[in-house]
Amino acid sequence: MDNDFQTRTFEYRPCAEQRGGTQRPDAVHPVAVIGAGPVGLATAIDLAQQGVPVVLLDEDCTLSTGSRAICFAKRTLDIFDRLGCAERLMDKGVRWQVGKVFFDRELVYSFDLLPETGHHRPAFINLQQYYLEGFLVERAAELDGLELRWKHRVGALAPRADHVALTVETPDGPYEMRARYVVVADGARSPVRRMMGLESKGRTFRDRFLIADVRMAAAFPSERWFWFDPPFNRNQSVLLHRQPDNVWRIDFQLGWDADPDVEKQPERVIPRIKALLGDDVEFALEWVSVYTFSCQRMDKFRHGRVLFAGDAAHRVSPFGARGANSGVQDADNLAWKLRLVLDGTAPEALLDTYASEREAAADENILNSSRSTDFITPKTPASRTFRDGVLRLARHHGFARQLVNSGRLSVPAVLTASPLNTPDAAPFAGAMVPGAPCSDAPAGDGWLLRHVGGDFTVMVFGDERGLRPEALTALAGIDTQGVPLRVLCVVPRASAPTSLSPDAVVVEDTEGLIARRYDGQPGTCYLLRPDQHVCARWRDVDAAGIEAALRRALCREAPLPAAATSGQTDVAPDAAVAAQLLTDPHLDRPDDVYEALIDMHRDLTDAQSQSANAHLILLLANHIGNGAVLREAMALARRATVDASTERAAADAIAALPVTPVAA
Ligand SMILES: Cc1cc2nc3c(=O)[nH]c(=O)nc-3n(C[C@H](O)[C@H](O)[C@H](O)COP(=O)(O)OP(=O)(O)OC[C@H]3O[C@@H](n4cnc5c(N)ncnc54)[C@H](O)[C@@H]3O)c2cc1C
Repeated sequence: MDNDFQTRTFEYRPCAEQRGGTQRPDAVHPVAVIGAGPVGLATAIDLAQQGVPVVLLDEDCTLSTGSRAICFAKRTLDIFDRLGCAERLMDKGVRWQVGKVFFDRELVYSFDLLPETGHHRPAFINLQQYYLEGFLVERAAELDGLELRWKHRVGALAPRADHVALTVETPDGPYEMRARYVVVADGARSPVRRMMGLESKGRTFRDRFLIADVRMAAAFPSERWFWFDPPFNRNQSVLLHRQPDNVWRIDFQLGWDADPDVEKQPERVIPRIKALLGDDVEFALEWVSVYTFSCQRMDKFRHGRVLFAGDAAHRVSPFGARGANSGVQDADNLAWKLRLVLDGTAPEALLDTYASEREAAADENILNSSRSTDFITPKTPASRTFRDGVLRLARHHGFARQLVNSGRLSVPAVLTASPLNTPDAAPFAGAMVPGAPCSDAPAGDGWLLRHVGGDFTVMVFGDERGLRPEALTALAGIDTQGVPLRVLCVVPRASAPTSLSPDAVVVEDTEGLIARRYDGQPGTCYLLRPDQHVCARWRDVDAAGIEAALRRALCREAPLPAAATSGQTDVAPDAAVAAQLLTDPHLDRPDDVYEALIDMHRDLTDAQSQSANAHLILLLANHIGNGAVLREAMALARRATVDASTERAAADAIAALPVTPVAA
């Protein structure tokens, strides 16, 4: 039965090293992965699937306990498709793409995270983390070359010149093992990080959240519902999500002063839930816990032969579901690089790009996560006034909805600054810039992403007849430099191409969406990385260009200067940045405007005046639209306020000086 996932245990087994095999040179494993959470499991599966033998060690023998990750994003599902286990997740998970935001009692607006069709996987599924881990463990068991060792705790680690020595503790006592590379995915507290004297630094938010998983037969739709300041949790927020098995996740914001031990008691939890659901809804508590959240990361994800991934390397608040989702992207980024370095195809410098690409992605996730947390928990009275102003305006005005931040939900990082990219030499439209993760689209009777990934791929667009003779000659002339390179030919719907590269896989662009999403024209050619990110693109197949781009993507060629790899061409100077704040007289009927400003505050309390000002500023900010002008105005306004108070303080100080009467 599925629910066994919560109590399932895995057997401890002694390993070869414990039987005395460490002295043989072949006892150095290519890769050891520490931690069989979602990230360690994904890394090990990816490596094994790519033919790299891997040992996965976990100190425990169970799946994730309690209520942790539930929201898994489209990109994660695309990656799990490549890893051969997305179908299992889809069968069990609850699909969703619509979110609703409420303020007080009212619906403010709803949003759709995937408003277009033509994607294999939905925007999100909700699935308890123990199911995710259980399905990954099942997939791991299918793969040769993946040895999963339960109850094998890494207790010490010593990097050597050509390997890393690990001391592993087991119920039968400790043993030594060696691996050429070690991936550390041992979670947020990361004992291994501490063993190496390393830190993960950042902010811990002064707030507490009660997480209650409730089993009930409720009629709510499969949507994400978020309340700001609802009557059933005044001055705080509440989040509701549906999970499989009729389990609902409810997050109640408690505030910093709440006592976690008291708030966890059923007599405190049940009334909260009843206030939300009503007195007559029957439910049973599955899990209750109180959390605080941090946003932090390690300075460097690579330390020689030791590479950090997932929560061990970076950590975010759950608003936005960026924790496990971004960790799985770490695995996706790292596995192919380790394979190519281990088999001698690429230099070790390729592993530095794992660190730089994923550190940049972590910064993006931390920024988004911190901003969400700041919006959900305003830190000052002024930010509360603006936050509530945004929510009030959002009921009627689309611009304000852009500012509502109940968690910017996980999207994959676009690796625009990656040294592995080759910049465009011709204009392209759309989102598939170098560094972007490939968009999916219908292809033949399946999906495009099925044909991409694992190895490098050259994707070429043809016409009804197939490829042009020049393209065929160019493809035949590519020196792949010992790297497997697949050719994928995209032809329009219902064509019967005759002119094709002999070993190309041919897919029909059944709905024209591949051409649209990739701005593909006959001749357009993309070089795609094994992790399904765009590496480079051209308007014609250019053998020399592809070879150079491949060398760059393998770190066999010096990277281009950072600015050149962003993939942008013909970037028009940003007219908005050039604009300046007008401080010369510009007002139409100045006295009327001034009077209107004063009049706007008539009969308002101080608090209402501040709120009205915030609404006005938000409306005008949107009207002006230009961030540079606004920032200039804000700097002027702040300076004028601070200067005025300094002048006033100075004047008061002068007035307070004892005055010595001057003799007449
Ligand atoms: C309340 C909550 C809600 C969340 N919601 C979401 C969400 O909706 N979506 C999302 O993407 N993320 C979410 N997250 C984050 C998500 O749970 C984590 O990001 C994810 O578990 C990280 O996976 P990991 O594999 O890096 O680490 P972990 O899952 O922590 O796994 C680490 C593993 O390492 C093992 N280990 C530790 N030390 C050793 C050792 N010395 N030797 C061997 N093994 C060791 C542990 O036993 C464990 O199995 C949420 C987190 C919380 C707390």
